[in-house]
Amino acid sequence: MNTTILGYPRIGARRELKFATEDYWAGRGDADALTKTGAELRAAVWTGLREAGLDAIPSNTFSFYDHMLDMSVLVDAVPERYRHLTGFDRYFAMARGVQDVPPLEMTKWFDTNYHYIVPEIGPGTRFRLADGSAAKPLAEYREAKALGIETRPVLVGPFTYLLLAKPAEDAPNGFRPLDLLDGLVDVYAEVLERLAGSGAEWVQLDEPALVADRTDEEIDALARAYARLGRLTSRPRLMVATYFGTIGADALRVLAASRVEAVGLDFVAGPGNLDVLASVGGLPRKTLVAGVVDGRNVWRTDQRRAKATCAALLGLVDRVAVGTSCSLMHVPIDLDAETPLDPDVRGRLAFARQKVGEVVALGRALREDVPPSADIPAPSAGVDPDVRARLDALGDGTRRGDRATRFAVQRDALGLPPLATTTIGSFPQTREIRRARADRRAGRITDEAYTRLMKDEIARVVALQEDLGLDVLVHGEPERNDMVQYFAEQLDGYAATEHGWVQSYGSRYVRPPILHSDVARPRPMTVEWATYAQSLTSKPVKGMLTGPVTMLAWSFVRDDQPLADTARQVALALRDEIADLEAAGIRVIQVDEPALRELLPLRDADRPAYLRWAVGAFRLATSGVADSTQIHTHMCYSEFGEIIDAIGALDADVTSVEAARSHMELVADLRAAGYENGIGPGVYDIHSPRVPAAEEMEENLRRALRAVEPARLWANPDCGLKTRAYPETEASLRNLVTAARRVRADV
Ligand code: GLN
Ligand code: ZN
Repeated sequence: MNTTILGYPRIGARRELKFATEDYWAGRGDADALTKTGAELRAAVWTGLREAGLDAIPSNTFSFYDHMLDMSVLVDAVPERYRHLTGFDRYFAMARGVQDVPPLEMTKWFDTNYHYIVPEIGPGTRFRLADGSAAKPLAEYREAKALGIETRPVLVGPFTYLLLAKPAEDAPNGFRPLDLLDGLVDVYAEVLERLAGSGAEWVQLDEPALVADRTDEEIDALARAYARLGRLTSRPRLMVATYFGTIGADALRVLAASRVEAVGLDFVAGPGNLDVLASVGGLPRKTLVAGVVDGRNVWRTDQRRAKATCAALLGLVDRVAVGTSCSLMHVPIDLDAETPLDPDVRGRLAFARQKVGEVVALGRALREDVPPSADIPAPSAGVDPDVRARLDALGDGTRRGDRATRFAVQRDALGLPPLATTTIGSFPQTREIRRARADRRAGRITDEAYTRLMKDEIARVVALQEDLGLDVLVHGEPERNDMVQYFAEQLDGYAATEHGWVQSYGSRYVRPPILHSDVARPRPMTVEWATYAQSLTSKPVKGMLTGPVTMLAWSFVRDDQPLADTARQVALALRDEIADLEAAGIRVIQVDEPALRELLPLRDADRPAYLRWAVGAFRLATSGVADSTQIHTHMCYSEFGEIIDAIGALDADVTSVEAARSHMELVADLRAAGYENGIGPGVYDIHSPRVPAAEEMEENLRRALRAVEPARLWANPDCGLKTRAYPETEASLRNLVTAARRVRADV
């Protein structure tokens, strides 16, 4: 093994997998058609990798939905409620649910924006190799072999698989999925033996869980698992891959002492790996797969640096293979598909296909000791002296008045009742809205016609909110395709791609914008819409912005300076936008940070520094306003326990959070953590079309009132309404206003 990658995008260059899957779901295509598309996509990837000159090619990195779900099916970790179904029906029911059968939970894959299907494991789970010799990794191995391509099947390792699982609902307290490791390892042993029987030379076991903090007990379990797999007499050679950070020294010691033949380390997200490797005395008699080509970001590799890293490693291990830092599934497929990109930006980019080329070139440079390929151009539009000077001059981002002063001033200025009602920002995105945006992009309607359509929509949404009796209104965000892309398109320093899709989950792909240079705001971005909405009503209209952390989390961000510096540049642009909104008469401004939890580092030790800059960027953006201007923030999609102090440190006047599914617990938690500003716990779950009764929301509000005084409690849904339809939205909001009024009458 000289050159390899840990995985490759499976969605197809033209999103073939999405269309085939959605056709199958909609009954437009049958199982055979979907199966055929899968086989074509796999064949295209394998042959493409071979033609690129890669010498060790992975397989089983394809998935019809998710690779963790594939593992659950492989080892028969299928909860009872799906067992009456078979084949694709069972598989997709586990992923998406069917009538009366809820799906498995879905959650984020480490600190990426990819989401996996969470295995449900209970004491009754009996692992076994479900499909015998027809099992997916075996079938794919043979399929590639039939094309004349030897591959290395990739499996999520048993340790990581169980650590990412959750206990089944009926599991007794204290049960941990990891308790079942030995039984699971038996199944892996069988898979390895069968793969060896089919001729597989190598297998890759992914253990990214080793880059997070691990207990001694977990490390013992790891040692047991790999001792057992290592001892198998008939097995392929084993490569254990870690990625997304620096491996723990204890974990690396276990792998070093085991019989596995190769270890993969991430030298992009885990620069500490070199030290750890030295501290454990290297990996004698093993191959190190050096992840020097970034699988998570879109930048070209600095080949000189990568080559130097590999050369340094040769002192610590016997053999070095060049690899990617992680699977390439996190980056778009092909830069060559992008025609309109600015050549300066393009010159700095590499997508999956280009990164394979980099791995191959580096492998050659290392073997033949030829100099690596050309240098990467520096960002020519990279440095904006104006932005930098202003940032240097800005202070620490503290509001003028303290929170008690602001509370009093805002109460008088806004005149809101206790339990003020509002929404999170977006209203349903109807077919007409989407069509108007598409028509404009395609040049089928003029800008004036487009503006007219959006303003009509805003007027409708404002009138509806007046009719519902909400207290703080929104314009409804009809002009936004996506809360990050909308701003990225208007800021300097960002570029968009046309085909740069990456899988977020299942058939949902996103096209993250590329933040390539210093960020600046050439002109106001939201003021026209917000002031138009405000002109239609005497109630306050809430301006709506996306916060700096979220602007980075859902983009590909330049890696030539610390994220913290880039966050401050985005924050400065937002600060200017907020000043313009304020000057235009907008008295309430919300800065959404749903991704604040998402970027939290995997290791405890790295968290304080992250939270410091994340909070600092938010405060830089929001602290320029008068005491009378009310700053809101909104968070969702996560457990907030680990960032509860940070939420307080943001010092927003009002924080709205997802809470409906956890029965308002967060309100008490926030207060217990010393949070004293306004709180808007989502009193109903917008992720389902269900219309909750007023009584149910009333109950939630009363529960919240046990922990917060009425003047600081807000009544709102738990997220934006853009994915909902109007009938349920109207009915739910009507009940919400009723609930708030009833409770208000009693306080
Ligand atoms: N203001 C955004 C909306 O309502 C917030 C979206 C989000 O939290 N993800 O759509
Ligand atoms: Zn939300």
